[in-house]
Amino acid sequence: MGRPTGFMEYKRELPGDRSPLERIKDWEEFHHHFDEEKLRTQGARCMDCGIPFCHSGTLINGMASGCPVNNLIPEWNDLVYRGLWREALDRLMRTNNFPEFTGRVCPAPCEGSCTVGLNGDPVTIKEIEREIIDRGFREGWIRPEPPETRTGKKVAVVGSGPAGLAAASQLNKAGHTVTVYERADRIGGLLMYGIPNMKLDKNYVQRRVDLMTSEGVTFVTNTEVGKDISAKQLIADNDAVILAGGATKPRDLPTEGRNLKGIHFAMEFLHKNTKSLLDSQHADGEYITAKGKDVIVIGGGDTGTDCVGTSLRHGCNSVTQFEIMGRPSDNRLANNPWPQFPRVYKLDYGQEEAAAVYGSDPRTYSIMTKRFVGDENGHVKELHTVEIEWKKDENGRFGPVEVPGSEKVWPCQLVMLAMGFLGPEETVLKELAVEQDERSNAKAEYGKYATNIEGVFAAGDMRRGQSLVVWAINEGREAARECDRYLMGTTQLP
Ligand SMILES: Cc1cc2nc3c(=O)[nH]c(=O)nc-3n(C[C@H](O)[C@H](O)[C@H](O)COP(=O)(O)OP(=O)(O)OC[C@H]3O[C@@H](n4cnc5c(N)ncnc54)[C@H](O)[C@@H]3O)c2cc1C
Ligand code: SF4
Repeated sequence: MGRPTGFMEYKRELPGDRSPLERIKDWEEFHHHFDEEKLRTQGARCMDCGIPFCHSGTLINGMASGCPVNNLIPEWNDLVYRGLWREALDRLMRTNNFPEFTGRVCPAPCEGSCTVGLNGDPVTIKEIEREIIDRGFREGWIRPEPPETRTGKKVAVVGSGPAGLAAASQLNKAGHTVTVYERADRIGGLLMYGIPNMKLDKNYVQRRVDLMTSEGVTFVTNTEVGKDISAKQLIADNDAVILAGGATKPRDLPTEGRNLKGIHFAMEFLHKNTKSLLDSQHADGEYITAKGKDVIVIGGGDTGTDCVGTSLRHGCNSVTQFEIMGRPSDNRLANNPWPQFPRVYKLDYGQEEAAAVYGSDPRTYSIMTKRFVGDENGHVKELHTVEIEWKKDENGRFGPVEVPGSEKVWPCQLVMLAMGFLGPEETVLKELAVEQDERSNAKAEYGKYATNIEGVFAAGDMRRGQSLVVWAINEGREAARECDRYLMGTTQLP
């Protein structure tokens, strides 16, 4: 609980970020971190509220409220306030396999539901979480913990994102022999090749993979299940299989001129950029460069923001980001009360950087792309848009209505499509005849994770659709628990 009166004595503080103009010159992480004293003071703001909504992760109106892995936040806030970092680490590791990832990239729905946030500023939970785990590694408290005995059961995990890694980590703890298959050349899923290095340094991902390897998990890279090895073979060779292939099918924009050169899916841009950075510090040139180009990013979400930050680091000439929805309000609206996740206007890191370079937020709201126009070489040279208004139709459904006379032409030589994802790729699901839900995700009940195929479980984005790292960890852990129960008839896993 920290200090009962701490929330009245101390203000919420955040460590701040490196200056935007400085950080766009490199690919290093952009957050500063607090020293111990500051963090203990922030921990003291946890107020013994009685019902800590922060650790009861749930969905309200389709958005996370509270911590999806049920981190015991008030307990470790109190331990940090009292300087008991080792105990805080033990408490944190009970619920979260990878706090070094969530402490960096989680949107912190815990803070949106913190009781102090009801009429004040919430506790700085995420930054405390990051320091507990970083300190654990620095102090040498995190060591390989292989299981004492093996059960003789074999489990294959398809996909090495946070869901697959969490499942593998838990199943290995339970003594099963786990092999993780990944089609990319590096392990980590979107932790490695989606989220850019400046948000999550890839050394942290590799450090965790190395730790899991030394605990006995086997990783097989450059191997696509369904192509390089059949899914049926995995079932034959293992006692259980966990499908954690993510939801990476991108939403397209099938409009006039879509086939012009220079129009890419965001993930192609981001994946190649990080791979080239890690392989050769970009010396191999094996990436799509934004240097000197007028860039338009279609999609106002996090993936779009990552494209903005990446384009700026390449040295683009300009960058604009389109959002089809209207601008969010500055403060919570009445229909978005605490403890819901606050849907408010936010200048995320990429937009902050663009504003520092060009003078304003790069986002344009309530705008729709009508067509792309190319030059004589078949390369995109401009994009035509129209403004829209969101209105109710005769059935009461909201939809976009074009504003007459609002057409506009935008010069551009590089366009990124970052309009979200439609669901999982289906090769493995089709091969095994795994039932899919109405959104094409693998069909398996939340909390149970069993698909219609005996011994085959599904977790993470592949089951719930594109979501968050913290939900993927939650599902990976719970799917491991259900898989262990299936294999052993009982389970000790949480
Ligand atoms: C650009 C971007 C930025 C994001 N930023 C954030 C953020 O800041 N914070 C946050 O919380 N969330 C963020 N997300 C969402 C988050 O990354 C995902 O919700 C999360 O990674 C899902 O985890 P997962 O394990 O289910 O799948 P993934 O991370 O997608 O991993 C699935 C893995 O399976 C592999 N795979 C698929 N099929 C096969 C096969 N047949 N054989 C072998 N391997 C296969 C894929 O190559 C991939 O590596 C972001 C997403 C994107 C796209
Ligand atoms: S994992 Fe996310 S929601 Fe949970 S405590 Fe950490 S920052 Fe908050």
